Amino acid sequence: MTAGRFAPSPTGELHVGNLRTAILAWLFARSTGRRFLLRVEDLDRVRAGAEDAQLDELAAVGLSWDGAVTRQSERQPYYDDAVARLRRDGRLFECFCTRRDIAEAASAPHVLPGHYPGTCRNLSEAEREAARRVRPAALRLVTDVGRYDIRDVLHGPYTGAVDDFVVVRNDGVPAYNLAVVVDDAEQGIDQVVRGDDLLSSAPRQAYLGSLLGLPSVEYAHVPLALNPERRRLAKRDGAVTLEALTAEGWEAAEIRAVILRSLGLPETSLEAALAAFDPALLPREPWIVDPSHLSSTDAAPVPPNR
Ligand code: GLU
Repeated sequence: MTAGRFAPSPTGELHVGNLRTAILAWLFARSTGRRFLLRVEDLDRVRAGAEDAQLDELAAVGLSWDGAVTRQSERQPYYDDAVARLRRDGRLFECFCTRRDIAEAASAPHVLPGHYPGTCRNLSEAEREAARRVRPAALRLVTDVGRYDIRDVLHGPYTGAVDDFVVVRNDGVPAYNLAVVVDDAEQGIDQVVRGDDLLSSAPRQAYLGSLLGLPSVEYAHVPLALNPERRRLAKRDGAVTLEALTAEGWEAAEIRAVILRSLGLPETSLEAALAAFDPALLPREPWIVDPSHLSSTDAAPVPPNR
């Protein structure tokens, strides 16, 4: 059974831009007959209480998901298995570089901007032995492509850089790119809808999936919500979370209506939006959210920027 998903990191409350991405992920999944799964990406920074708050917020705007919520922190055996396969295939090397080492080596003329400079790729066993005494190793992928092609429902064909990226951090925690690829495949997820800030990660993930022999996924990277200065929307921009807006007198259904309107969809219900949903008609530009327009006394809609 195929599935789509929303995969929030429990670092804080969801703002209207995150809720919009969640609604889009639901619309994409449901409009294509897929299940819709919710996965909490809690391997990294986690704020106490954030997961419960996020799940409440998603439910408050009317979203429902299939089956139990999964948490990356409970899925270590799957990551271990993938790491073992990569190791067996000679696809991993230990990396002892600090950020500073990388920044310095990466300024060399032969290194592509943003790429790992290759410092630890060909260390001898004696060099590795010595390095292990200084600091623990991260595990990087041995890549043999510099770029990889994907297709995105909204962006079309997209080619992005692939370097020897980290798959296990030096504290032993699986890196985001590994966990996402392993989880999506293991959960039967074949549609990945998320903010377009992650478009440039998709080629790395697709390449890793191909090395692990996993089925490819359909990507849809959706426009982010930005503040009027065109910077990524954040809590500090004002009342942009459900909690803050509710405190100002908003109903969750009104917030959902604003989000659906910004997508050019009927705003009466998620079902009505689903009936009208067509990815080809979605706005391709960022959603500019002016918190001063989001107030209960002036429930003026956020102007859709289409
Ligand atoms: N957990 C990531 C985030 O909240 C999203 C990862 C993904 O959708 O692949 O930014």
